[in-house]
Amino acid sequence: MVAQGFIVDLNKPLVFQVGHLEESYEEWVHQPIVSKEGPRFFESDFWEFLTLTVWWAIPVIWLPVVCCCISMSVRMGHTLPEIVLMVIFGVFLWTLIEYTLHRFLFHIKTKSYWGNTIHYLIHGCHHKHPMDGLRLVFPPAATAVLCFPFWNLVKVFATPSTTPALFGGGLLGYVMYDVTHYYLHHGQPSSDVPKNLKFCWTNLMMFFPRNCLQGCHR
Ligand SMILES: [Zn+2]
Ligand SMILES: [Zn+2]
Repeated sequence: MVAQGFIVDLNKPLVFQVGHLEESYEEWVHQPIVSKEGPRFFESDFWEFLTLTVWWAIPVIWLPVVCCCISMSVRMGHTLPEIVLMVIFGVFLWTLIEYTLHRFLFHIKTKSYWGNTIHYLIHGCHHKHPMDGLRLVFPPAATAVLCFPFWNLVKVFATPSTTPALFGGGLLGYVMYDVTHYYLHHGQPSSDVPKNLKFCWTNLMMFFPRNCLQGCHR
């Protein structure tokens, strides 16, 4: 039990501190520190390393997996138009999943020690440090773990030959989402297209609870 009025020491690893904020975590996490320098998460160098991801690792690691999945469905006899449809449907599926996660999980209100800690790890850190460039895209190790339940979820609804292309489409949707999100924070748009994209993104976020607008996506 930690005394009321706990203050987070920003010079020490954050992850195991934020839980002690209890009720005041909600307020703390929505007071962004807008600096490109990120905080330390863990004492251990190994775990710390797993939380740091350069944005280009996302397409470099996951696009070959997308191609691999799509080619599995091709080898199982699907025609090009069928494959295109499945991939588009997969991208759409990802959008739905992302919306659901953001709407119901990423902005969940927590006050327990582990509730705060887990929330900080999955999304709270992005609200607290929206410009931390190495903690904006999702760590590949965590994505790899999540691929298993998602593959099995698709398998429940799809046939053995359509599962790979649908899953590949979903993964492609994820890659596009994560890279666009990174660009909207760190890119320097020189034409009107990215500016319009930023406008659309903000509008999309209007569907999310107020906190997202106050946090990272103004
Ligand atoms: Zn958010
Ligand atoms: Zn953001």
